[in-house]
Amino acid sequence: MPGVAQLHSRGPAQEGLHLRAAKTAFDHFGQRVFLRAVVEISNFCRENCIYCGMRRDNRELSRYRARHDELAELLVHHRPASITDVNIQAGEDPVGVRELVIPLIKTIRRETPLGVSVCLGTLDAGLYAELKSAGASIYIIKFEIADPGTYAAMKAPGNYQERLAAIRRLSADGWRVSSGFIAGLPGQTD
Ligand code: SF4
Repeated sequence: MPGVAQLHSRGPAQEGLHLRAAKTAFDHFGQRVFLRAVVEISNFCRENCIYCGMRRDNRELSRYRARHDELAELLVHHRPASITDVNIQAGEDPVGVRELVIPLIKTIRRETPLGVSVCLGTLDAGLYAELKSAGASIYIIKFEIADPGTYAAMKAPGNYQERLAAIRRLSADGWRVSSGFIAGLPGQTD
């Protein structure tokens, strides 16, 4: 794992870092390429993160929620042949998860060979379980900010401890979890 100093490396040191990263990818995947299509199903969100245009208090934004039939038609019959996976994502919109995402995952799993990941935020355990039994296997959920004070100041989802608990619960429940943080927020240090 690169340390903070390596993030600032330049010249030969940076090239070396990139070569090591390329070798690690090659050792794991060879020359196989996976193409993941991102499907944005909704921009409703019950959260209010100050760094995000989809926050609930942003009255300037026109809100939409896609329709199952339209997305299913596109994904089943009109997707590019190169696509191997889909990632279904939205703001924190439990209505969209119940009414659209879960039926859509079932359709995708029934009608296509696509792998399914989801990026839908902090939800209750029952919805996580329904998403998994519908056929999703990877959950993408950033911890946003690794400092509880800044997390609260930025009004990131719920609170820092809840966010970590959600990530740990998903992992314990057998999801393959992809996580990380947001780089470039004000006041952020290495
Ligand atoms: S939870 Fe996600 S979509 Fe919602 S306001 Fe925060 S960053 Fe934006």
